[in-house]
Parts: sequence; structure tokens; C-alpha cells
Amino acid sequence: MAALYFHIPFCKRICTYCDFYKVGAIELIPKVVEGMHKELEGRVNYLKERRIASIYFGGGTPSLLPPEQIERLIAHACELFDCSEVGEITLEANPDDLTEEFIEGLRHTSINRISLGVQSFDDRVLRFMNRRHTAAEAKESVARLRKAGYDNISIDIIFGVAGFGDYQLVDTLNEAVALDVEHISAYHLTVEERTRLGLMVRKGEYQPVSEERSEEDYRLVEDMLVAAGYEHYEVSNYAKAGCRAKHNSAYWQGVEYLGIGAGAHSFSGDNRTWCISTAKEYAEGDMRYESEELSSVDHLNEYVMTSLRTKEGIDLEYVKSRYNEGECLRILESAKGWIERGVLRNEYSRLYIPTREFMLSDAVIESLFA
Ligand code: SF4
Repeated sequence: MAALYFHIPFCKRICTYCDFYKVGAIELIPKVVEGMHKELEGRVNYLKERRIASIYFGGGTPSLLPPEQIERLIAHACELFDCSEVGEITLEANPDDLTEEFIEGLRHTSINRISLGVQSFDDRVLRFMNRRHTAAEAKESVARLRKAGYDNISIDIIFGVAGFGDYQLVDTLNEAVALDVEHISAYHLTVEERTRLGLMVRKGEYQPVSEERSEEDYRLVEDMLVAAGYEHYEVSNYAKAGCRAKHNSAYWQGVEYLGIGAGAHSFSGDNRTWCISTAKEYAEGDMRYESEELSSVDHLNEYVMTSLRTKEGIDLEYVKSRYNEGECLRILESAKGWIERGVLRNEYSRLYIPTREFMLSDAVIESLFA
């Protein structure tokens, strides 16, 4: 089974920390959507697998699309692929886009999961991040979704934010837990050079949190969410029982996916392709791509990277059968020091990082690369 991704690269306002590809020219949306229909038809053979398990609208801000345009894209995908077993169709949304009217429209689409960019329940932090919504709007949007019958809601929150006191993260986590959403993604605020936040750091207006504070925040997030009944199943992701994100899990399991839209990435198992056109070029039908073929080493490294970010870790039997026993022994040799420190565990043919140590996953992963 494969996955399908639609990238909507539009934002009405640019968040302080964001370095994703996005544009503010929302008047281009109709033409870009038409381009997406064309691209979908033109690239239908990119996937070897015809059956789609999940569809995801990401961005940017997919909730800027009128619901009927969302449904047209889904319907078109279902004409081209076998979507009879699609279990999850997610829309990323900004809380302030989820008006009564928008949700009423959404109920007539096949979207069955909403991923809300909440980030914080502290208005001071939201203003610092230049988000469009307030904490109250975020809570109202969840209540509206519930009232409309949505029973699979995810929210994003950001930790590791300096300058707002010791309790703002605790308050945000308490609010998140009180909403009783099915899924929570928690990301550390990162400073990317080409962002407003990067500029603030260069001008001395923002001092990123220390490593100790990062670790404290990370553990606070884990402690509070696990105590509230969430499973910490991937470095940045927590789910109630049975509510893991299927689409994102497909990425981590190395499943094929087709990405449609300006800036979208695709993966066919042995090839990675990404669209380099700007939204304007894309709207004019000028779709250009770059791609790379993955060698066996690239493939293995990718497997090591994605699997070690999950609770399940590396399946050593899979490495033996898909690659060879030598690779398995090499990985175990490189893992020795980490295992002695308790940062890696080797149990039942699985090499995994205990969730408490996920903070170290980047260093562990790099050391296990072929
Ligand atoms: S809404 Fe999302 S994509 Fe748009 S600027 Fe903010 S973080 Fe970036």
C-alpha cells in the first residue's frame, strides 16, 4: 500500500520560526489546484503500488483551500488509484480557518482526521511566533470539530521556547491534555538561519534555550503526555491507543508515496523526486523536478534513520534478509557503546532507543550509518 500527499504551499502570515517553502500569494490557489490535478494525472505511474492507504493535505496551510476543492482532489485520486482501503485522510489546519461554515463544508468531504497547528496555549507565545490564532480560538476550533463529529484530531505543540517563564509549557500541556485529542505532535523550537527567528538571534533579541533546558522540556512533555495516557511512539509523536498517525507512520516504514504540488517530495522505494518549481511557476504549468536514485547504502541508512526514530527501532532480521548478515553485525558493533550506556537496547531482534533517550537519536543514528 502507498501514500498520497498534497502540498498546499500558501500561508496568510509567516511564522517567526518557519523555513518551509510557502508563499503569501493566495490568489494563485485556484491555478495551483488545477496544476495539481494535471500533475496527479501525469505522475500516476510514479508509484509501483496502485493501492493507497492514506492521503494527507499538508503545507503551508491546506485549510485555505475551499472544502469542495479538497474533495475534488480526493475524488480525482480515487479515480486514478485504488482508494477502496484508504483508512486515513488528514487535513492540516490553522485553528482560525475552522469557522462553523468551513467545518460544515468539510463534513461533505472525505477528510476524517484533522491536524491542528496549535503550537501553544499561551497567547504571548503565539504572538511571539506570529501565529494567526489565539489560545481561545484553538480550543474553540477543537470544540467545533468535536461537535461536527470529528473523532480523530491531532494538535501540534512547540516546546523549548525561551523567555516565557517556567510554567508556560506546563500550562500548554495541561490544556492539550484537557482537550483529550487523539494525537499530539511535540516539536522543539529550532532556529533556522533564513527565518525571522534566525534574524532575532543574530541581533541578540532572542537567546535559544540551553541544552539542559531542552532536555528538561523534552522530559516534561513526555512525562505529562505519557501520564495522560498517550503512547510516545516516535521522537515527536504521541497517540492515544489505536490513534497513531497512519500517513506519517508510512513514511517511517519506508512505504512508497507520491507528493503532488510545488515543493512536494515523492519516494518510490528506489527513487526520491521533489518538485522545485515555485508556486507561480507551478500555477503556469511549469513543473520541474529534481531526483536522486537511492543506492543500497542510501536505502539502508534511510531505514536506520527512520526506524530509530520510532519506538520499535531497527528490525535486525529485516536488515539480515533485505541487506546481509554483515550489515547486521556492523550495526551491532557500532551500537555497542550506546548499548552499554543504556541509550540503545537490543531485545527480540530489535535494536531500539528507549523513549527517554530519544533526545539523543540524531547522534545514535549518525553513528550507525553504513
Ligand atoms: S503556518 Fe505553517 S507553513 Fe505557514 S508559516 Fe506558519 S509554520 Fe510555516
